[in-house]
Amino acid sequence: MKEKMIQMFTKVYGNNNDIRVFFSPGRVNLIGEHTDYNGGNVFPCALSFGTYGAIKLRDDKLVRMYSKNFDDLGVINFNIDNLKNEEKHDWANYPKGVIDILRKHGYDINFGFDMVVFGNIPNGSGLSSSASIELLMGVMIDELFNFNIDRVDLVKLAQEAENKFIGVNCGIMDQFAIGMGRKNSAILLDCNTLNYIYTPIDLTKEVIIIANTNKRRGLADSKYNERRNECETALKELKTKLDITSLGELSEDEFENNKYLIKDDTRVKRARHAVYENQRTLKAVKALQNKDIYKFGKLMNDSHISLKNDYEVTGIELDTLVELALKHEATIGSRMTGAGFGGCTVSIVKRELSEDFIKKVGKGYKELIGYDADFYTANIGNGTREL
Ligand code: ADP
Ligand code: MG
Repeated sequence: MKEKMIQMFTKVYGNNNDIRVFFSPGRVNLIGEHTDYNGGNVFPCALSFGTYGAIKLRDDKLVRMYSKNFDDLGVINFNIDNLKNEEKHDWANYPKGVIDILRKHGYDINFGFDMVVFGNIPNGSGLSSSASIELLMGVMIDELFNFNIDRVDLVKLAQEAENKFIGVNCGIMDQFAIGMGRKNSAILLDCNTLNYIYTPIDLTKEVIIIANTNKRRGLADSKYNERRNECETALKELKTKLDITSLGELSEDEFENNKYLIKDDTRVKRARHAVYENQRTLKAVKALQNKDIYKFGKLMNDSHISLKNDYEVTGIELDTLVELALKHEATIGSRMTGAGFGGCTVSIVKRELSEDFIKKVGKGYKELIGYDADFYTANIGNGTREL
């Protein structure tokens, strides 16, 4: 891929030496969904596919960016001193936002550069191509300007770029998983404290398969805000008697004994998901530490049921993919991943049966839903880095 990126760079900007090539992964969350704002435990990993970029510093203030994925937009130009979110710059606002936030934090970025980008993460499917390109830009700048930024700080700055420059109110999980990813490990992260531990996953006999429903997450934004509000209200109701700051602090028993404080059945369900999912994430990590992949898979299945029945963020497409997966003998566990309503499922599947899994689940999905799902066989890779 490194050679290909250099060729792409040369094709777009003419022949050049000293081109540096970087890679930034996508991410998938294995368990702990809608918990990032509800207590904190998530368990994502960086993927072996992601966003590649080739870059070379200039000695003037011009920035030129080209993405093979957005070829029709051609090369996008701007001045390094003029960093505004501009609609016509489309995708380039993501990397531009990272430069802007870095500068606002005092990093002296006074030269422009030429850059080409190519990604093999499907955009807008919940595998976080946006955080991938943000960290790509962040690490490129860190390396080119020799800033030596602490990686967790860079992760926070990338999130700040997405929040403030793009205007998407995302949590820290995506940038963290992508910036901090480690080969063959997932990261148990507490999104409140940013405490984290790496947990190795031995996937010699199994493989992670990500299936994209190819349904746009049309409802996701409004429903996301609705769920956040419901959980906030439930927390307030519980706080009338309990000394807690988030739903995730409760054990299942504590929740069951106190749920009478929540005055609405829907809110009880939402809070129940938050409480149980936080605990489930910890149990899932324990299962992996005990090398019990089947227990881990079972907890993934339980997570999906909770997201379907209690949190109500799935939908026919995600449910169909999971139901078909669970009917296949290859499947160890399967669940929706990401915000829900569309996007992807993640399944752990026996490696030797994975082709048959893709064939049968794909066929079933097409029959029931009417269009194709896309399947990706993923390995767990390292975080953003120079190649
Ligand atoms: P997700 O993060 O779930 O993939 P988002 O809507 O948050 O979806 O981010 C997708 C956007 O990120 C794209 O529309 C594009 O603007 C930008 N992006 C992602 N990958 C690339 C890429 N390879 N080249 C250019 N822009 C990209
Ligand atoms: Mg995104």
